[in-house]
Amino acid sequence: MSVINVHDKSFVPYLSEETILGKIRELAAALSNDYAGKRPLFIAVLNGSFMFASDLFKELHIDAEICFIKLASYKGTKSTGHVITAIGLDTDITDRHIVILEDIIDTGKTMSEFLPQLRNQHPASLKTAVLLHKPDATAYEVPVDYCCFSIPNKFVVGYGLDYDGLGRNIREIYQLKED
Ligand code: 5GP
Ligand code: MG
Ligand code: MG
Repeated sequence: MSVINVHDKSFVPYLSEETILGKIRELAAALSNDYAGKRPLFIAVLNGSFMFASDLFKELHIDAEICFIKLASYKGTKSTGHVITAIGLDTDITDRHIVILEDIIDTGKTMSEFLPQLRNQHPASLKTAVLLHKPDATAYEVPVDYCCFSIPNKFVVGYGLDYDGLGRNIREIYQLKED
């Protein structure tokens, strides 16, 4: 892995595919243990979490369901601070054990708006499982129940995460290069 360019910016290697998949296997083992017999419903947040959700779901060895919603709050490398529901939830979550799958919790804005909407529908339980968390970027306190990596407050791409539409197909995670 070496420096790559996406649009006008340079990125340096940060997390290898092996490192990412290793942590996802650990997360899947923990979830399989915690949710055995509960038939959890995983709600993956598109677009960014599609790769994470896919790799995680394959590693679960319990009865589990998955569905998808699409929320968007980002433009370029900065949060717009405005969350749009582009594709909503089509599944009844009342009395279900829900696990939200998110690529990254940054300011917490997206989850701070979405979690109350879900709580209103009275799930049996509601937890978040995230690939990446930027604790230093927190502006809205949201529960991060399961987390693969806590990372510094720097913009990252790859493994499903984009910079203005590009970079999602990169197998590793890259970090914005300092000038
Ligand atoms: P939040 O609402 O927590 O500020 O941000 C949530 C969304 O912003 C994430 O689901 C993700 O789509 C996007 N985002 C936040 N930080 C990054 C980042 O470092 N890189 C990329 N590509 N997207 C990010
Ligand atoms: Mg996301
Ligand atoms: Mg994005």
